[in-house]
Amino acid sequence: MIKLAIVSPCYNEEEVLEESTTRLTALFDDLVAKKKISADSFVLFVNDGSKDRTWSIIKQLHRTNPYIKGMNLARNVGHQYAIMAGMMTAKDWSDAVITIDADLQDDLNAIEEMIDAYTQGYDVVYGVKVSRQADPMLKRLSATAFYKLQHRMGVETIYNHADFRFLSRRVLEQLSHYQERNVYLRGIIPLLGFPSTTVDDVIRERTAGTSKYTVRKMFSLALDGITSFSVKPIYGIVYLGIIFVFISILIGIYVLYSLISGTAEHGWASLMLSVWFVGGIVLMSIGAVGLYIGKIYKEVKRRPLYNVEEVLYDDQDK
Ligand code: UDP
Ligand code: MG
Repeated sequence: MIKLAIVSPCYNEEEVLEESTTRLTALFDDLVAKKKISADSFVLFVNDGSKDRTWSIIKQLHRTNPYIKGMNLARNVGHQYAIMAGMMTAKDWSDAVITIDADLQDDLNAIEEMIDAYTQGYDVVYGVKVSRQADPMLKRLSATAFYKLQHRMGVETIYNHADFRFLSRRVLEQLSHYQERNVYLRGIIPLLGFPSTTVDDVIRERTAGTSKYTVRKMFSLALDGITSFSVKPIYGIVYLGIIFVFISILIGIYVLYSLISGTAEHGWASLMLSVWFVGGIVLMSIGAVGLYIGKIYKEVKRRPLYNVEEVLYDDQDK
């Protein structure tokens, strides 16, 4: 029997929290009855600087429901960091942590399977989406393209696994030594290298509210997912540069030939074209290098990933 912690990041989730709590409570009651988890297992809702009533709802739920614990971050730091904050807090009070989005779009039935896998000796259990029918078309397409791109860039991740996963305490202990500031958990966890397996995750529609992942947040996660684990884009730029030098040599030869043979034209179009084209490539390359320098800048400052304002976890629970 393990003491389980479920960590769930919440950003403006006032519409789903009560329903999610009802479903999680039913699940916990069931797992406690089956003697799979201890009765002091808990759900830690991490409020990621919500602008709505999320935190007051969490406080209310904590007062009435013994399973519910809460944690309030001082400002919005984003999904990955909110999960990190929750896991690092929950690991000291539990044997294992499962992370799941507050909207419970992931498959709650998979949680029992995750625990079973742990008893069979797995430290990491990934929830893998079996179908993305519940996701909008655009999200599905961009996700598929992203996983492919990531793979080509040499980043080892689990295909169609988001952040629904089980981690044992010793994995979390190890994870706490990874001091990087640019957190992309889907990339870090496989690097840890503990025995791992997957379970099916049947995604459902959001029960209420809308997606809190704006296009901007999704894009920034995607960039982190590649640039935090791979330097291939920089190599790509170097190769691009080599190709361009080669092409310009060919053009040079052609120009020289035209001059000698007297057929040289004062081409405006070709000039404009090359200036813009090369300019674009140069800007893109500087930008890509800048991305990495920006990351180095963030790493060297070693600022904390998140600031905890308040934790609701009663002493007698520990
Ligand atoms: N979330 C968060 N901070 C943010 C954005 C999102 O903690 O800045 C949480 C959100 O409350 C949810 C989870 O991250 O629990 C996933 O977000 P969402 O369900 O909106 O994304 P989607 O399922 O559409 O990818
Ligand atoms: Mg969701």
